[in-house]
Amino acid sequence: MSVLVYTEHAEGKFKKSSFEVVSYGAAVAQQLGTNLVALSIGNVASDELNKLAHYGASKILTVSEDAYKSFVNQAYGAVIAQAAQKEGANVVVLSASFSGKGLAPRVAVKLNAAYVDGAVSLPDTSNGFMVRKGAFSGKAFADVSITSKNKVIAIMPNSYKVVENSQIANIESFVPTTGSNDFAAMVKDIVRASDKVSLPDAEIVVSGGRGLKGPENWGMVEELAQLLGAATACSKPVSDAHWRPHSEHVGQTGIAVSPNLYIAIGISGAIQHLAGVSSSKVIVVINKDPEAPFFKAADYGIVGDAFEVVPQLISAIKEFKAVNA
Ligand SMILES: Cc1cc2nc3c(=O)[nH]c(=O)nc-3n(C[C@H](O)[C@H](O)[C@H](O)COP(=O)(O)OP(=O)(O)OC[C@H]3O[C@@H](n4cnc5c(N)ncnc54)[C@H](O)[C@@H]3O)c2cc1C
Repeated sequence: MSVLVYTEHAEGKFKKSSFEVVSYGAAVAQQLGTNLVALSIGNVASDELNKLAHYGASKILTVSEDAYKSFVNQAYGAVIAQAAQKEGANVVVLSASFSGKGLAPRVAVKLNAAYVDGAVSLPDTSNGFMVRKGAFSGKAFADVSITSKNKVIAIMPNSYKVVENSQIANIESFVPTTGSNDFAAMVKDIVRASDKVSLPDAEIVVSGGRGLKGPENWGMVEELAQLLGAATACSKPVSDAHWRPHSEHVGQTGIAVSPNLYIAIGISGAIQHLAGVSSSKVIVVINKDPEAPFFKAADYGIVGDAFEVVPQLISAIKEFKAVNA
């Protein structure tokens, strides 16, 4: 028996979620008295693999043939399941990221496993195997008892801390067997639409709502995001009105994000918006209405006009960066 984690990378660099799943997997393996194997698919530089080797895995399996260069849901699902079988892994951990949410159910079906999506803490193994996950769009928790032999857990990004470990992993290559059926849908080419930070993976998100009055006022949102290395997002009415692209719409019917920092500017904090952002680590709300519901969910609130507050924030950050450059 062992624990297997699937690690994600972007253009050869491991995402933060990969260090989270390895740290989480190492803790689960320790609880179960077994070892952890990490799986990396696609081209990753050896210095990245060496970095990942310090987070508690005893082995990193790398799948680096050209066929797996681009993410293909079906094929990657097959590779993860095969790696789990090869390693005798009963527990497979992935990030509940955009691609993880597509992969995890496929892997669960292939392994005849129970699947928990959106786990927020380590399993309780004192009496069986119980995993806590978010429920009702983050308004409640559900403790899910898994009784099947095989288990697939997708953990919420940012829900588990990254922990270095004295154990250093061996790096081994793994050659899976996949067929043409696994490549029924293939990525031929990836063309970057922009150099902006990708919203689902962003650690900081700067988001604007209807309080910004119109698309012509988004310059300050973009400037603030660029200064912070953040992704931009918006509320639904903003994308419905085509002020911003639909790819930026967060909430119940949009993208769910859980960054370390979510800055909401001129957004009221309707329940459907909160559903997609409430698992953010720190929420900062800028709203001119002190009664705006978003303040109840905020860690920090600024009651004020966005058109005064945001430019001041931008110049303060610029000043800070200039002093600390
Ligand atoms: C089925 C369903 C699904 C939905 N899904 C989503 C979803 O996924 N995501 C989502 O966002 N919404 C969703 N909605 C819509 C949601 O209910 C709200 O209508 C929406 O979130 C409101 O957007 P808003 O906060 O940008 O606008 P508003 O509600 O109009 O709020 C604007 C805010 O800006 C503040 N403001 C105004 N001027 C300024 C200023 N100068 N400076 C600072 N603050 C200012 C106001 O005080 C106000 O709080 C959904 C609704 C339904 C029914």
